[in-house]
Amino acid sequence: AQVPTITLNDGRAIPQLGIGVWQVSDDDIVPTVSKALEVGYRHVDTAQGYQNEEGVGKAIAASGIARDDLWVTTKLANGKHERSDAVAELKVSLEKLGLEYVDLYLIHWPQPLNGDYVETWKGMIDALEQGLTKSIGVSNFQPEHLDKIVEATGKIPAVNQIEVHPTFANQAAVDGSTKHGITIESWSPLGLGSDLKNETLGEIAAAAGKSPAQVILRWHLQKGYVVFPKSITPSRIEENFDILDFELSADDLARIDALDEDNRTGGHPDKMN
Ligand code: NAD
Repeated sequence: AQVPTITLNDGRAIPQLGIGVWQVSDDDIVPTVSKALEVGYRHVDTAQGYQNEEGVGKAIAASGIARDDLWVTTKLANGKHERSDAVAELKVSLEKLGLEYVDLYLIHWPQPLNGDYVETWKGMIDALEQGLTKSIGVSNFQPEHLDKIVEATGKIPAVNQIEVHPTFANQAAVDGSTKHGITIESWSPLGLGSDLKNETLGEIAAAAGKSPAQVILRWHLQKGYVVFPKSITPSRIEENFDILDFELSADDLARIDALDEDNRTGGHPDKMN
């Protein structure tokens, strides 16, 4: 089966399943991305802050896969929120990635305590207009942050990449995004592994003949979220991709939805700086 795509509000089709590379070291990055591309992943989620864009680029170059067949996302580093930083920093990323453009460029965190993210968003629009990225979006934006940039510029982000997993539905941020037609990308989709031991998920997985990780990732897909689990273990990279041949029932989805217990594992967007 093929990886499904979602059509973003700018008309571009994003592969709904990819590989995330936060906390993937210099030693692991090339083998990890190479393995993922071999298995069939065509979407890589990196960031300036992950300090592994060069390795991502090396694996892409070695793969020989046509640029058009790949989706590469990177993110503007925290602390680089001047309007002019967005274009300047993306040029640095492109150099490291060995690419002419990325598919998606995100503001990594709004950092409201540090000041302005509206000027930052204007800089993202500059990067889009210069063709350095095909789509622009944000990450970790709360509803009021989204409302503010849309009001100020009229340009709606294509995606909002936020923490979502079964024990953390993050529903207010989801609703504040979808009301604008913004697609959700779920980060830490497995709760960094912490959601895998849940009993209900174990039951659903046993009945489906799948692993808990596969059930969670399938839940994200069926909710319409874009997802890019991270693993450096070849067998898990395969396992996390092998989710296209089964479906969760409405009842299974509802049982997983009911696991929400506001279990945020990462930083709070209003406080991160
Ligand atoms: P994740 O939920 O993908 O969990 C990854 C961990 O889960 C692995 O290190 C491993 O311990 C475990 N795991 C993975 N596959 C497994 C399997 N099949 N069976 C058992 N255990 C398994 O966590 P993540 O890396 O935080 O999130 C995924 C990606 O989201 C990141 O790599 C990054 O690209 C992105 N992200 C973005 C932000 C942001 O602020 N925008 C923050 C965190 C993560």
